[in-house]
Amino acid sequence: MPWCEDCSKFWTPTSLNRDGTCPTCGRQIGEPAKVPWHFKLLVLATVLYLGFRAYQGFVLAQEHGVLLYVLAALAVAAAGAWVLVRRSSRRGSRLG
Ligand SMILES: [Zn+2]
Repeated sequence: MPWCEDCSKFWTPTSLNRDGTCPTCGRQIGEPAKVPWHFKLLVLATVLYLGFRAYQGFVLAQEHGVLLYVLAALAVAAAGAWVLVRRSSRRGSRLG
């Protein structure tokens, strides 16, 4: 249990800031939060799997002669996502 001398207070490890500093005074009192190796492995496996499935999808679309339509739909979806991200980040900067 991390103890902050400046604040005379115990903190639970999860209530600390992510870099292990005290939420009140910012003093280093705990270990920085690390991403566990099995989480990175899971992300890598997910990316590889989804990439393989996307490749299969492109091959299938090419076999059926609709690859251009698929790419056009993906471009539209990407543009829509880009607009949404732009809007939400602009709203966030106005608040913060
Ligand atoms: Zn403190």
